[in-house]
Amino acid sequence: MSDNCIFCKILKGEIPSAKIYEDELTYAFLDISGDFYGHTLVIPKKHCANVLECDPSTLQAVMETTQLVSKHYVDNCGFTGVNLFNNSGVSAEQSVMHLHFHIVPRSENDGYHISPINEGNKVDLSEVKAKLEVK
Ligand code: 5GP
Ligand code: ZN
Repeated sequence: MSDNCIFCKILKGEIPSAKIYEDELTYAFLDISGDFYGHTLVIPKKHCANVLECDPSTLQAVMETTQLVSKHYVDNCGFTGVNLFNNSGVSAEQSVMHLHFHIVPRSENDGYHISPINEGNKVDLSEVKAKLEVK
């Protein structure tokens, strides 16, 4: 737990939240923004900042809960797909520094556009590969 972290405060019950699912290692609750119907956040109970800093077992637990809740939305709640995303780091627009994955449940014709729009920028993939390949 981290004293000044709002998601740790949610886990401690100091800030109310709309719980969707909970187990020993993780907690899922509705995002407060109300931007997308059912927008859900999945967090570990153990505080860590983001994907870049958490240990693999914590990330695994969060991903398993993300899959469980996503399948629940599709199997039991009338949705047909989900968008999943995570922001790790201030430059990636992370605003709460406690690891979380976003789930946005989707339906045909829901009118949302969440995937990045690729406008066909000219990129030299071999140059990018030379720079980014894991060696
Ligand atoms: P980030 O930008 O860090 O990826 O996402 C943080 C998310 O946390 C935002 O979507 C924001 O709406 C949500 N959020 C921030 N404060 C609270 C809160 O107190 N309660 C809940 N339920 N969501 C919050
Ligand atoms: Zn925290």
